[in-house]
Amino acid sequence: MDFSLSPEIESLRQKVASFVEAEIMPLENNKANYDDHENFKESVVDALREKAKAAGLWGFQLPKERGGLDVGVAGMAVLYEEAARSPFGPVVFNCAPPDDGTMILLNKILNDEQKERWLQPMIDGKVRSAFAMTEPDGGCGSDPSLTYTSATREGDNWIIKGRKWFITGAEGAQTFILIAKTSDDPRKGLTAFLFDADQPGWEVVRR
Ligand SMILES: Cc1cc2nc3c(=O)[nH]c(=O)nc-3n(C[C@H](O)[C@H](O)[C@H](O)COP(=O)(O)OP(=O)(O)OC[C@H]3O[C@@H](n4cnc5c(N)ncnc54)[C@H](O)[C@@H]3O)c2cc1C
Repeated sequence: MDFSLSPEIESLRQKVASFVEAEIMPLENNKANYDDHENFKESVVDALREKAKAAGLWGFQLPKERGGLDVGVAGMAVLYEEAARSPFGPVVFNCAPPDDGTMILLNKILNDEQKERWLQPMIDGKVRSAFAMTEPDGGCGSDPSLTYTSATREGDNWIIKGRKWFITGAEGAQTFILIAKTSDDPRKGLTAFLFDADQPGWEVVRR
């Protein structure tokens, strides 16, 4: 395989490296930039995100027609590596997990109307997402088929019962994807549900 980088990707790689060096690294040394959970404050991230957007360094993995750079998997590998020199780099460039994978997934499976509703706000950096699969009390971890969270259909609604934990970024996320069991079929019995943080019945119990 040829792992050489195109001139465009190499140019982007250098720009990301310079941005991290000049704009992000200096902020890491200042305690005033951190919140109570040792992350950059929202206001600090927001300001950096505006700068990254203005520099054309936004959403490496996202389609161009929706505001990303569409650099492909090899491009993602090198740009993510540069971004992640700082733990706050990926969120600044809107390529932090779980949003990066969530956006790639939603772009593949949603229709245009659904993309406007669920995907575009995430691409624009207005909302963040979280992925709820892992369960406490003997539920699923590495193997999602062990999930005890159930979803049953009642009329036009799905009733979901269960408990999840280790949901990265649950606090502050607006969009959730939750894995629940919809049948005992070993291969097709799991369904991913997409919903908003204020969905009735959904409650984040603790950080
Ligand atoms: C930083 C961090 C962020 C996370 N964020 C999220 C999140 O956003 N959303 C979410 O849902 N979860 C999240 N998780 C949870 C994570 O997905 C689980 O920790 C992971 O799936 C492992 O599950 P477990 O810890 O229950 O281990 P287990 O599933 O109990 O596995 C224990 C060990 O057994 C091995 N093992 C398990 N099954 C098999 C098998 N069939 N064959 C061989 N070996 C096996 C595993 O490799 C592991 O070494 C996060 C975890 C961390 C550490």
